[in-house]
Amino acid sequence: MVLACHLQPKTEINRTMLKKKSLEKNIREALAKVTHPRQKKTLVELGLVQDLTVSDGKVTFILELAAGDKDIAPIIEKKCQDVLKAIKGVEAVNIILTAERQQKTGPGPHETPIPDQKVPVPGVEAVIAVSSGKGGVGKSTVAVNLALAFGHLGLKVGLLDADIYGPSLPKLMSLDGKPDLVNEKIVPIEKFGMKIISMGLMVEQEAPLIWRGPMVGSAVRQFLYDVDWSGLDVLVVDMPPGTGDAQLTLAQRVPLAGAVIVSTPQDLALIDARKGLAMFQTIDIPILGIIENMSTFICPHCGEESHIFSHGGARLTAEKLDVPFLGEIPLNMTIRETSDAGKPLLADKPKSLEAKAFMNIAEKIKKDLFN
Ligand code: ADP
Repeated sequence: MVLACHLQPKTEINRTMLKKKSLEKNIREALAKVTHPRQKKTLVELGLVQDLTVSDGKVTFILELAAGDKDIAPIIEKKCQDVLKAIKGVEAVNIILTAERQQKTGPGPHETPIPDQKVPVPGVEAVIAVSSGKGGVGKSTVAVNLALAFGHLGLKVGLLDADIYGPSLPKLMSLDGKPDLVNEKIVPIEKFGMKIISMGLMVEQEAPLIWRGPMVGSAVRQFLYDVDWSGLDVLVVDMPPGTGDAQLTLAQRVPLAGAVIVSTPQDLALIDARKGLAMFQTIDIPILGIIENMSTFICPHCGEESHIFSHGGARLTAEKLDVPFLGEIPLNMTIRETSDAGKPLLADKPKSLEAKAFMNIAEKIKKDLFN
């Protein structure tokens, strides 16, 4: 089986993960010793190091200095560079300097939480991520329909579009109107019985989205903590596609109960899905399971079954990597048409055969989360 050649055995993944964890530990320990020249406390004690990620020997983090510390920023940056580059396994250090923090020694009462602390989202029982190793596999379509399926199962549901660069929920769900601000909280818009927030609701659809890394971070932080999500059983986060630093940072920032990985059945998509899986596993987020989207195609004219993108690869990957396989969603004209028309399948045709596939998967996840 060709697929087997691409799969990294579980032990190998574990070894890589262990190596990465110990490297990360060394990095954190080294940074914990760097002192702030003026405040005589360490950068870590002052909460100035944020969103630390380590990927292929490349260390990236945000160094959030006070505006008054601009003059000493190069000194602090050099100190960090020196201690990190001395660590075996560190190949490059990328420090994103911001000088926007108000001068103070600790976070104030209204300051959004430091991501590493994984503060629970007020009013939300469980936050889950829907993720994919690459774009175009139907991740957003699956996120929307899964969220709706949870609603049909009696859960109170919210949907957060974390794809700041390319938000697709407004199109998939025909969303319009801008969220209100009440008592300093963003009020999500409500559609199909769900609370929804997306960057696409905040900016003009056609406007170019140019965001610096830290701004993306703070936008998602705002979407988690400054939105009134009260009364939710589950908040579904539609993650940006891919497994780069931005996705890792996001996954670290969100207090996730678990992650769902969406993949099409081809070998190439599955290699990326496996990377996505490893990404969540390295930061100890439970994998709720893998979904094979655009699986079997049944010809609406003759009823013949074809496997346009191959078939069964996601199940096999799940088995090999010892994570749950949640089910298959067919490659289907109704799914595409309803998605593209802004009336998701589970809202438009909740009793259809295709909808049943989503319902079955949602039931499994619900059981896993709440039983
Ligand atoms: P992603 O979020 O992974 O980039 P989208 O959810 O935007 O992907 O889907 C990409 C395209 O594929 C959309 O046109 C969508 O309607 C279509 N699509 C997604 N899943 C299916 C499916 N199971 N059958 C048919 N078309 C699908």
